Amino acid sequence: MRSLDAFAGQKLAALDAQSLRRRLSPTRRHDGAVVERNGKRMISFSCNDYLNLSQHHLVRAAAAEAALNYGAGAAASRLVTGDHPLLSDLEKRLARLKGTEAACVFGSGYLANTGVIPTLVGPGDVILIDALAHACIWAGAQLSGAKVVKFAHNDPADLERLLLAERGAARHALVATDGVFSMDGDIAPLDALSELCQRHDAWLLSDDAHGVGVLAEGRGSGALFPTAKIPLQMGTLSKALGSYGGYLCGSQAVVDLLKTRARTLVYATGLPPASAAAALASLDLIAANPTMTEVPLAKARLFTRRLGLPEACSPIVPVVLGSAESALAASTELQNQGFLVVAIRPPTVPDGTARLRIAFSAAHEDADIIRLADAIAKLRETAS
Ligand SMILES: *Cc1c(COP(=O)(O)O)cnc(C)c1O
Repeated sequence: MRSLDAFAGQKLAALDAQSLRRRLSPTRRHDGAVVERNGKRMISFSCNDYLNLSQHHLVRAAAAEAALNYGAGAAASRLVTGDHPLLSDLEKRLARLKGTEAACVFGSGYLANTGVIPTLVGPGDVILIDALAHACIWAGAQLSGAKVVKFAHNDPADLERLLLAERGAARHALVATDGVFSMDGDIAPLDALSELCQRHDAWLLSDDAHGVGVLAEGRGSGALFPTAKIPLQMGTLSKALGSYGGYLCGSQAVVDLLKTRARTLVYATGLPPASAAAALASLDLIAANPTMTEVPLAKARLFTRRLGLPEACSPIVPVVLGSAESALAASTELQNQGFLVVAIRPPTVPDGTARLRIAFSAAHEDADIIRLADAIAKLRETAS
């Protein structure tokens, strides 16, 4: 189709002109934090494998054994024949970790949010979302048909203003936020958000993709706020847990409803048994050695201290550079020095805030972190 290819070509040319085109780069991971791209080995500061568990021999063995014993795929949706017994083991473990009655595992974190949100709210309801929340929360909100309202980032006063304006006209209200913000590394004020939600009868959903495994002995950002009540605790198996898949922890009633109504569960193939087995092995390793969960944040703090940045509160540290061009140039220069730090550009982050997003893991050597900090200090000096 000539019009189709012309359309795609024009879109690509426009993205190229703004330095906003993205390209895949086949990447292999090696021991520790080493990755290989285009034949070049670098130390990666862009993996979300905060505890390096995707590479752990026991996690790999668990995945391999499950694949050998049970097959490579789940072969059907969970409601048909894809509900392998490992999935209910995993759900029990996740519910215990998060202190909820029950849990529901999905094919990915993206599928969890796009399944959970439209199951709970729809036309006539309102969903209030932190301005910097993850793309899949916005996608789930759009699918729901509810009125979507944005509140200022980490600003309970703005949320309160909007709840006062919007809550009365809506049947149900959902408030959704990242627990740890994926591109900024800061943490939502879950105690204040929870208090507002209780006062205005709104349901709080926290997406803790980047908190589980690395904050509060692995329990995640919600556990940093003992007074917070978070009825909807979403997360992923794909980051610190080193596997693949997503989940929602909540009450038995909510989980039962998801398992009969969430479209991304009903109409998508179940999580492969190997992914569930790997996540269970990771949860075992964390339970046996909870102090390992403190290492990524300690590494991030070594970096922020060295650069004089505000102290890190999660393993994610942004170095905002502004334009997409400057972020790409900085990333290229760091790659020349042997560090893979991917540039993050709009629309993943707001216009004018392109950045290096640095993710610290237990696999990083302190000496490499100091070398990276000094390389970035030099880049910032020459840029200013
Ligand atoms: C990565 C991420 C997701 C998506 O999880 P996947 O399991 O990778 O699909 C959802 N929310 C946040 C905040 C994330 O960073």
